[in-house]
Amino acid sequence: MNIILLGLPGAGKGTHGIKLSEKYRMYHLSSGKVLRKVARQNTSIGEVVKRYINRGLLVPDEIILKLMGARIEKLAGKSKIIDGFPRDIRQAYFLDDIMERIEEEIDLCIYLKVEFQELVTRLTGRRVCRFDGSIYHVKYDPPQKEGVCDKCGASLYQRDDDKEEIVKKRIKASAGKINKLKDYYENRGILKVIEGTKKSPDEVQIKIENIIES
Ligand code: AMP
Repeated sequence: MNIILLGLPGAGKGTHGIKLSEKYRMYHLSSGKVLRKVARQNTSIGEVVKRYINRGLLVPDEIILKLMGARIEKLAGKSKIIDGFPRDIRQAYFLDDIMERIEEEIDLCIYLKVEFQELVTRLTGRRVCRFDGSIYHVKYDPPQKEGVCDKCGASLYQRDDDKEEIVKKRIKASAGKINKLKDYYENRGILKVIEGTKKSPDEVQIKIENIIES
């Protein structure tokens, strides 16, 4: 099964992508994670990627398509949850081409719907483990010890692009594109919308699992 998680920044794609991959033993492919790893490398492409991410802008297609294309092809024959990709219609067409090449299909697109102000609150309070990528929130899901990951003891940090000004820019830049993607997958009959505003991660997770299992 191949699933796309669609949603504005902060809607919970990463959180639910990790949980689903653990529960159903699927591969979790997050474009943001792939890009952050590239950005940490001391290469010219890493520098370019870092600049785009830190400004809250989408990384140019010539970079992201190559990176995601290679990873999706490598996962041919395996169940995948793709999170953060596609971000616009052009990327969706590109994904269709790859799926055709590996003789697979996108079976389900889950759209996590969350209101603007809640997205801002979620993102600005988000903290991420430097080592294992676990996600916390200073108010809604704090670690037992401030600034320390419960699972592995490594320190937590705030992503540069989770600062308020950048967060607002990221959300606004994505909104129109995500709506077009929603229509695209709805027309294909594979879209399921989940209301995530004022819902706990556990409530949303149960809804997603119900959809997958039905
Ligand atoms: P995310 O972790 O999904 O919030 O992504 C973090 C940042 O990575 C975004 O703000 C973009 O700068 C970049 N990014 C992630 N996915 C894509 C994509 N599909 N296309 C272009 N840029 C992306």
